[in-house]
Amino acid sequence: MIHEIQTDRDYEVFLSVVIPVFNEEACLKELIQRTLFSCYKTAKSFEILLVDDGSSDTSPQLIKEAAENNPGKLFGVFLNRNYGQHNAIIAGFSKVRGEVIITLDADLQNPPEEIPRLIEVGEDFDVVGTIRVNRNDSFFRRFSSSLVNRAVQKSTGVMMHDYGCMLRFYKRHIVDAMLMCHERSTFIPVLANSFARVTTEIEVEHAARTLGESKYSFAKLISLMFDLVTTMTTYPLRLLSIVGGIISATGFGFGLLILALRFIYGVEWAVGGVFTLFALVYFFIGAQFIAMGLLGEYIGRIYHDVRARPRFFIQDVVGVKVDQKK
Ligand code: UDP
Ligand code: MG
Repeated sequence: MIHEIQTDRDYEVFLSVVIPVFNEEACLKELIQRTLFSCYKTAKSFEILLVDDGSSDTSPQLIKEAAENNPGKLFGVFLNRNYGQHNAIIAGFSKVRGEVIITLDADLQNPPEEIPRLIEVGEDFDVVGTIRVNRNDSFFRRFSSSLVNRAVQKSTGVMMHDYGCMLRFYKRHIVDAMLMCHERSTFIPVLANSFARVTTEIEVEHAARTLGESKYSFAKLISLMFDLVTTMTTYPLRLLSIVGGIISATGFGFGLLILALRFIYGVEWAVGGVFTLFALVYFFIGAQFIAMGLLGEYIGRIYHDVRARPRFFIQDVVGVKVDQKK
């Protein structure tokens, strides 16, 4: 199947705002009010979608009420259990109809007031990310984020400074592309960037979480980090071969050195072959790593095929008649 980005269809609304909600009863009222206000301010047609990610508090009722009070403007999607923030957002993507889509956290750490500015900036871009200035999170969170961000920049080559902030803007074709990726573990900002041609970032304020508490435990953060890495690359598998190569080469070089020294300094120098043993051990440990890396190469390819992402998207065709394009 060839995937082509549809650029000439009619949109029912201009802006869709997707917000994942997991036990956020404390913030919902204010969130809804501020987001609605901000959307009205854009003077465009819009819809707000709250995706309830299996909350066990009163969030679902609050969403239902809000949907009744704002018909046509706000609606809710309820997942049967907790699937995690990124899956909840994907579920939301599958239900919205907007020409541009903005995601946002429910906890008001990302101010909804930034929506008009995102739309304005987004006109010329496929994806607009945000950088949190004065980020109000714990030192540990900031430190681990900065490590991860740097790793992502290195391996994707896409320069974005802050992959953790979910206040983001996407054009429709990017969301459509993401919906065609059926893998179970996703990290949306990285996935989106892999389909975007032009991206940019703006700086936004970041508030401390004043209501409710973070839904990410340490274990969930670790799992999110692995999602991020595996969404992006199978390079760690190749790293096995590279590390193995280095260890083996070191062992081999060491062996040669011992041989040379043995001739220069005589038999006593070699301490009865202990050093030789070292060289051999290094060499074979390295060889094992290389073998694992080779397995890794196959596993990486299996992973890519199982994931079955579209090979490419044709964004546009020029120089042919319109009806030929289809
Ligand atoms: N969230 C979710 N499902 C989860 C965890 C979080 O839908 O399993 C939502 C949560 O309600 C919030 C957003 O994802 O809207 C970000 O979560 P949180 O603020 O707890 O993350 P942090 O700001 O600590 O990274
Ligand atoms: Mg938060």
